[in-house]
Amino acid sequence: MMSLAPMSTSEAYEAGAIDIAYSGWRPQEPLATYAPLAGDIDTDVVVIGAGLAGASLTLHLAERGVRAVTLEARQPGNGASGRNAGHVQTFLDDLEPLRAWGDRATRFVDFFIEHRNIVFDLCAKYGIDGDAAKCGMVEAALRPQRALERKAAQWKAYGYDVDVVGTPELRALLGTEHYRYGLHWREGGRVNPFLFTNGMVSAAVRMGARVYGDSPVLACTREGQRWRVRTAAGSVLTQRVVICTNGHAGNPFFPDLARTQYPLVACAMATRPLPAHVLDAINPSRAAVTQFPTGLYPMVIDGRNRLITATIPHPGRAHEAQAYFSYFLQHLHRAHPQTRDANIEMEAYWTGITANSSSVYHADFPKLYRVEDGVLALMNLGTWGNVMGPLLGMSLAHALASNRTDACVLPVEKPERVRVPRLFEFKTRHLMIPAARIIDRLNLA
Ligand SMILES: Cc1cc2nc3c(=O)[nH]c(=O)nc-3n(C[C@H](O)[C@H](O)[C@H](O)COP(=O)(O)OP(=O)(O)OC[C@H]3O[C@@H](n4cnc5c(N)ncnc54)[C@H](O)[C@@H]3O)c2cc1C
Repeated sequence: MMSLAPMSTSEAYEAGAIDIAYSGWRPQEPLATYAPLAGDIDTDVVVIGAGLAGASLTLHLAERGVRAVTLEARQPGNGASGRNAGHVQTFLDDLEPLRAWGDRATRFVDFFIEHRNIVFDLCAKYGIDGDAAKCGMVEAALRPQRALERKAAQWKAYGYDVDVVGTPELRALLGTEHYRYGLHWREGGRVNPFLFTNGMVSAAVRMGARVYGDSPVLACTREGQRWRVRTAAGSVLTQRVVICTNGHAGNPFFPDLARTQYPLVACAMATRPLPAHVLDAINPSRAAVTQFPTGLYPMVIDGRNRLITATIPHPGRAHEAQAYFSYFLQHLHRAHPQTRDANIEMEAYWTGITANSSSVYHADFPKLYRVEDGVLALMNLGTWGNVMGPLLGMSLAHALASNRTDACVLPVEKPERVRVPRLFEFKTRHLMIPAARIIDRLNLA
């Protein structure tokens, strides 16, 4: 067997694989852990990967009484789902790319709108303590933006509670006159994605799903009409397999799936808990915030009164926590000059990988691939996983329960290799983000 050299810490940051203990979302208190698979068992559906997609799929299969076994390489929430920025965005940025889906586009958008509160609904239904809050979202800009105006009109027509706002409203929402224009979505908000993912897994287990941790899948081979999914110490014989591994890189089974995506490393950080007067200076409304059009420092305030933000690290420098925290502080001081004397310290810094289906940010939509007869992959959730993961996991579970894969709101596609997988990363890390930082520094956006 090939033995791999251990990753250095900087390599692990760069690969988005730094120990999940570094994630600011992981609580201090011990959580339920899942034992490895041992021995040979059988089931109807094997789910590979327990992130937001796999956890929701498992939960909704269990809800429908379908026998499901979930195999997770580490523990639930170990991937991007335990490492993200916590935004629950209940609208889509751009519907244009959906045109290619024909009639299915309307079905998808209707489904998305109907279930846009799925994060909050699942937390309420299953008593998941995911620190989820419907605190709304603000997209803040330095000057009027036609694209935001059009977006507000479009989603208002769909019945969304969103308004174009100017300086006085933004001052009330964000405690600053730095921004002159924006959208106030009284929809969506924040969640602790690690706790939410784990909460879905626990609920699924309570309803009969079998979940195994520390069980990386090593092989997936056909056995008659069924599939045998193997781990180091056991195997599962199953009718169907659904791969929910996000970035598939490094997986020995169906390795071509790794070529369907544009991976991008992102970093995130949390401050230590801040006193109310500092938070009031930064964000009296406590809404989730993004800057338009750069999206440089998305920000949520969590239940522990911490600021949590994310950005894209410089090429090869994902481990330089202090550098990105300094950028963030400089941004805060520019946008909220009252914070210059505040003691704002970093509590946690971590990285993760997003797997995107497009090299164009707003054209990025999740994919449902038919890999082989009986094998599907729900992946490439991009930067929308907090809502898309639970939503699409539910849709696919309902489709599988009724034996009609095409009933899923996503089109079932053939995996297509992308020509230059590193293209998105190159554009983003080398060009767009450095430019956005300069634009932000000079207030040019
Ligand atoms: C820094 C950052 C910020 C982000 N911010 C946001 C945000 O604010 N809002 C938002 O909606 N989205 C955000 N995202 C995106 C979101 O986190 C992802 O879209 C989502 O988590 C993907 O979920 P997933 O279930 O597809 O994958 P993952 O969470 O990555 O889960 C895949 C799982 O598969 C497991 N696995 C892999 N290989 C194997 C194997 N061989 N056998 C068994 N298991 C395996 C992994 O261990 C992992 O647990 C962000 C992402 C990052 C990295």
